[in-house]
Amino acid sequence: MAGQRTVIIGAGVVGAALADELSALGWSDITVLDQGDLPATGGSTSHAPGLVFQASGSKVLTELATYTVEKFVDLQHEGESCFLQVGGLEVATTPERLAELHRRHGWLTSWGVEAEVVGPERCVELHPLVDRELVLGGLWCPTDGLAKAVWAVDAQIERARARGVVFHGRHEVTDITVEDGKVTAVVTDRGAFPADVVVSCAGIWGPKVAALVGLGLPLTPLAHQLAWTSAIPGSEGQAQEAVRPILRHQESGLYYRDNHEGLGIGYYHHEPMPYDATDIRSMEEADATGHMPSVLEFTPEDFEPAWTETQRLLPATNDAKVEEGINGLFSFTTDGMPLLGESREVRGFWVAEAVWVTHSAGVGRAVAEWIAQGHCSSWDIHECDVNRFEQYQVAPDYVLERDCQNFREVYDILHPLQPMDSPRNVRLSPFFSREQELDAFFLPANGWERPHWYGANAGLLERYDVPTPNDWAARYWDPIVGAEAKATREGVAMYDMTALKRIDVTGPGAAEFLQGLCTNDVDKSVGAVVYTLLLDVDGGIRSDITVARLGRDHYQVGANGELDIDWFERHLPADGTVQVADITPGTCCIGLWGPKARDVLAAVTDADMTNDGLKYFRAKRLTIGNVPATAWRLSYVGELGWEIYTTADLGQRLWDTIWQAGQEHGIIAAGRGAFNSLRLEKGYRSFGGDMTNEHDPYEAGLGFAVKLDKGDFIGRDALIERKANQKRTLACLTIDSTEDVVLGKEPVLAGGRPVGYVTSAAYGYTIEKGIAYAWLPLEVAEVGTELEIGYFDKRVKAVVTAEPLFDPTMTRLRG
Ligand SMILES: Cc1cc2nc3c(=O)[nH]c(=O)nc-3n(C[C@H](O)[C@H](O)[C@H](O)COP(=O)(O)OP(=O)(O)OC[C@H]3O[C@@H](n4cnc5c(N)ncnc54)[C@H](O)[C@@H]3O)c2cc1C
Repeated sequence: MAGQRTVIIGAGVVGAALADELSALGWSDITVLDQGDLPATGGSTSHAPGLVFQASGSKVLTELATYTVEKFVDLQHEGESCFLQVGGLEVATTPERLAELHRRHGWLTSWGVEAEVVGPERCVELHPLVDRELVLGGLWCPTDGLAKAVWAVDAQIERARARGVVFHGRHEVTDITVEDGKVTAVVTDRGAFPADVVVSCAGIWGPKVAALVGLGLPLTPLAHQLAWTSAIPGSEGQAQEAVRPILRHQESGLYYRDNHEGLGIGYYHHEPMPYDATDIRSMEEADATGHMPSVLEFTPEDFEPAWTETQRLLPATNDAKVEEGINGLFSFTTDGMPLLGESREVRGFWVAEAVWVTHSAGVGRAVAEWIAQGHCSSWDIHECDVNRFEQYQVAPDYVLERDCQNFREVYDILHPLQPMDSPRNVRLSPFFSREQELDAFFLPANGWERPHWYGANAGLLERYDVPTPNDWAARYWDPIVGAEAKATREGVAMYDMTALKRIDVTGPGAAEFLQGLCTNDVDKSVGAVVYTLLLDVDGGIRSDITVARLGRDHYQVGANGELDIDWFERHLPADGTVQVADITPGTCCIGLWGPKARDVLAAVTDADMTNDGLKYFRAKRLTIGNVPATAWRLSYVGELGWEIYTTADLGQRLWDTIWQAGQEHGIIAAGRGAFNSLRLEKGYRSFGGDMTNEHDPYEAGLGFAVKLDKGDFIGRDALIERKANQKRTLACLTIDSTEDVVLGKEPVLAGGRPVGYVTSAAYGYTIEKGIAYAWLPLEVAEVGTELEIGYFDKRVKAVVTAEPLFDPTMTRLRG
């Protein structure tokens, strides 16, 4: 493809993979610059021991890893494969970890990777160094193994070179030229390279390179200990580099790999050792000292607990010693995910950073597709998008604290709802002090403290019987959740909806602009509210949003997050007729829902809130007490009521006004736990969990939000094609057992065979059944089909059920 001069900064395992993949897609005029010598440049890749475990709770991380495995197995370096497929074994020495291994096994099954949980004997058979008496079991994944990272760099460089990619070692990038908000050239100590696309694959130097274009990157280099032992008795003279599987002992933050007759040992349980990217040793210093830039001096005192534990787990090491070690630098991010994509601020400046060897080839592929085709067609990578962060999340102190915490937690057992301990109370809604008074249990959402339930509602438990789920599902849960859900259906409740992103789209071109992005028709009369999807060019769902037309040239959008703003900004017309503004921080929202919601509001507004005064999916301005507000008549909990918006300064006043008026109707404040249960009873999907870029609206059950005949919109053509080829669907499963509440990401099995995975799940307190939405092939998605859900080491019975489970005739919402 001509005309796009591309410069990749960094020829580590990520830069090399990108050059290979991009050139394979026919992209030409690619130059790769690295300050070090090729292929062992002195970056993290040069000393990575190369363990590739594919298990992850993140579907895309497993997919990127699986692609990397498959590519490296076939990738040849001087006649040898770049992957030693010795398998991967994760062992448990406590019942809690064994349960976690079952959960991890569930993830692998969900994402299509074969693995099994094995007993202690089999663990020892697979890895004879392991002490049989210590282990309770293991997770065995035969396709895991060791990536020969530097070989993989070399082999991918060779392939890319054969397609015309130019590589320059010993070229340090010292500047990037930006004109009119767009990159134009990369400047090195040996001259400048004109560029239309610049991709920083600079790993631990990422923040330094990003700073050249004025960007802050939420990434911290941290040192991680890696040691190599002398010969292990019984392995002396082992000619093959690795015969035993790679091994993880996560309870102690340890991993192991064979190294001929010795072992390589990696350790994570030392205190985090963050390092400033600008302090990393220069190439001159590296040359002078003989130490690679990414290698810090080994600190044996930090490694002592690792060695003691190693001798316990692998008794044969008692007769060996640690011969050498490093404190090696690699990248951590605030949420543990890579940073991929084009900067929002500087066009043409891309990053592919915070990527492990494990995911490197997949990331190369994903970013190559994104650059060459405008989107990644192989996987849904929105979780990795560099533009996903809120502003506060790129503040240096936040980044440092979170990155260190992610280092600490890298092998921890993390509950899906587990909040971060710190920093907390970052974003507070105007209702916060009132919620505290009601003894709210808060969990963070987009940085906002959001009530999950309220201790003040404990008295409801005298009225409602709420079943207790299993131990795991009962974490970050309280029976009050169920009581709040039931009370919402019977009376009236206030929900703090402030954490959801709100965007103003204004200007004379606003309607046309949104029409070009939305699947639904949003060019409606003032006051109309429309649920719609945003699609990518391939027809995959980018987001689901709610659009209210508040004026001829004014829309308010209820969105999912920063990526929606990014998408909008990338498509703004050049003529300045549309403006996009994030109004979330300056506004707030209460969801007032329940059969008595109208009685409450009637007492504090003169506005006509009857069915005729404000119909379902309409919005209008009104005054509530002293508070000017906007009410949108819709509800994700499936009850009569409104989302009520006002500015942040008036938020507390709004809360107090509604709260006081609600007293005689028994109003409660209710939390997200109840909300989630009620939403699933109504079958309302949530972007990111239930559907992502890889799904289209029809398979997701959202065809009602697509108006193909309204005119063109992004993704329309692709969607027409996809519509004719449906093979899977987002199905509703119910579970009779009150105890077996699943939480999401579990595998679904038909006749014992994995067929899909759970997206989101909750107990339905009104319908008195467990609910699990799941992606399934059409042939097993017929209503009435009996299936099983893999939950830890259990199989939970579930049945495909017609949806929505609650109020299918919509009488409550329209009432
Ligand atoms: C001790 C240790 C053990 C690890 N173990 C594993 C493991 O078992 N499995 C696994 O998957 N991952 C592991 N990792 C992580 C993994 O090594 C890294 O995440 C990965 O190698 C990063 O690759 P990269 O290409 O992004 O970075 P790098 O390999 O660091 O490449 C970045 C390149 O950018 C170049 N560069 C930077 N700035 C400039 C500039 N201004 N001008 C020109 N060039 C520049 C550098 O010279 C470098 O070559 C480990 C890391 C460490 C430190």
